[in-house]
Amino acid sequence: MTPTRPTFVALAFAWTLMSAAAAAPAADSAPAAPAPAPATQPVAAPKPIKALLITGGPYHDYTAQKTLLTEGIDKRANVAWTIYHMGDKGGTAFKLPIYESPDWAKGYDVIVHNECFADVQDEAFIKRVTAAHAAGVPGVFIHCCMHTFRAVKGFDDYRHLLGVTTVRHEKARSFEVKPAAPDHPVMKGFPAAFKTPVPDEVYVIDKVWPDCTVLATAYGEETKKDQPCAWVNRYGKAKVFGTTLGHPTEVIGSDPFLDTVARGLLWTCDKLGDDGKPAAGYGPAAAKEPAGTAAKP
Ligand SMILES: [Zn+2]
Repeated sequence: MTPTRPTFVALAFAWTLMSAAAAAPAADSAPAAPAPAPATQPVAAPKPIKALLITGGPYHDYTAQKTLLTEGIDKRANVAWTIYHMGDKGGTAFKLPIYESPDWAKGYDVIVHNECFADVQDEAFIKRVTAAHAAGVPGVFIHCCMHTFRAVKGFDDYRHLLGVTTVRHEKARSFEVKPAAPDHPVMKGFPAAFKTPVPDEVYVIDKVWPDCTVLATAYGEETKKDQPCAWVNRYGKAKVFGTTLGHPTEVIGSDPFLDTVARGLLWTCDKLGDDGKPAAGYGPAAAKEPAGTAAKP
């Protein structure tokens, strides 16, 4: 026996079925829904949040800070990092080359900014930064970001993006950070007071923009008032989290700081529950546990 005849029969049967389908009434001609996945197929875990950390500039140890930030957030949220670090020796007017492209944020779910370039005044350059966020890319802004581009006169887009306007800080000292909106998900788990482990800088906030919600304050000894030091903001289509804390590396590496920034990042990406916990699949990624820890002989 050759296999020819059974094969022909099978083909003919298939052709008959296809012809019948083609002749079916128009009401049945909608595209067929994809076949359901087999019940035994595992449910795919959520992909990590794709985050771009942009860091660099004078006055701060961004080499140490980028490691503490990314590794610290990894212990709290499911994030895949790309790190862009430039300009530590370029002075305060250095223009990060990444912002020369209007597509600089393309492909990322969130941008974490920890940069320090106060004297850049190129309006077209700054507007490429704000435009990417206005189009919907969430942003997390840390410390000297709030004084970046502060020398610019005549347009306030970047301050609006941040949620606050500030151009100076008080003399560095240790101080207490207190919740101003303890019921906000980003503040769930924050202590009643967080004393900075080493001197940090209280930034003097001249303006809180209308869509900004202040989450925490620190008392300014020189200005004799509570100064916002953590907040959330909305700018265009984007959600924003900002904190002026984080001059010293010891504050960046502290648990209250990392807990809050991780919750802030998740909130900007709509991945934080009302209880302050990561949404399902966005807690620390099990895949990032050191390989082999479960297989010791
Ligand atoms: Zn600083």
